[in-house]
Amino acid sequence: MATVEEILSRAKNDNRTVLTEFESKELLNIIGIPIPSQKLVPVSEGLEKILEACSQIGYPVVMKLMSDKIVHKSDSGAVKLNIQSESDAKSAFNDLMSIECNDDQKAISIQQMAKPPIAEIIIGSLQDPQFGATVMFGIGGILVEVMKDVAFRIAPISDFDADEMIHDIKGFKILDGYRGNPPADLDAIKDTLKKVAQLAYDHPEIAEMDLNPLFTYADGILAVDARIILKSTKV
Ligand code: ADP
Ligand code: MG
Repeated sequence: MATVEEILSRAKNDNRTVLTEFESKELLNIIGIPIPSQKLVPVSEGLEKILEACSQIGYPVVMKLMSDKIVHKSDSGAVKLNIQSESDAKSAFNDLMSIECNDDQKAISIQQMAKPPIAEIIIGSLQDPQFGATVMFGIGGILVEVMKDVAFRIAPISDFDADEMIHDIKGFKILDGYRGNPPADLDAIKDTLKKVAQLAYDHPEIAEMDLNPLFTYADGILAVDARIILKSTKV
């Protein structure tokens, strides 16, 4: 397995400031944040290799087009969920290939289809010019986008800080067993918050991180999408 430093320097050596979702999640997994199992197959290796990866991951799978040229994957049609069979996989591959994307490095990320969560949460980090590394927490969807229901702290954070962040937001009720749902695994959320804060603190070259969404369960958490952006080293 690669190290955090290796993944970061790979991007730096390529003069890239944006890590792909695949790389970002690989890095998160190294520091102990759970992700759906994933395999990366360059499009140049062809459909057979992609189908092989699908059966290794095990249906149902998700296929996503990875390219520097694509930022908001869903908006570009680059996310294919709940692929149940080889014939589904073939048609998903054809759909992904019809996306206009002039990139000879493009690849397909094949990943395990995660079970529906109790809630989707967002964890992020930013390097603040005044405070240094900061960490953000919110509930996914409109609560973040419209209601701005988020909590921030300066990194690194303690268990107490993480606990406060979770309880600070109005959306906490969603994590606390609403409509007969079991409560979300708050320890797993706290652990992820602390790990993201520590990563941002240890690596000031990480300008921004965005784990959006993380799926929360009664027992555990899964980062299904992530984006890591490095500081531009250009002067
Ligand atoms: P975008 O770049 O558009 O944010 P995402 O990777 O977040 O793309 O995928 C869009 C949505 O698809 C996610 O918000 C999530 O609800 C769902 N999704 C993505 N990956 C998985 C997965 N591996 N398992 C289950 N659902 C997923
Ligand atoms: Mg996303």
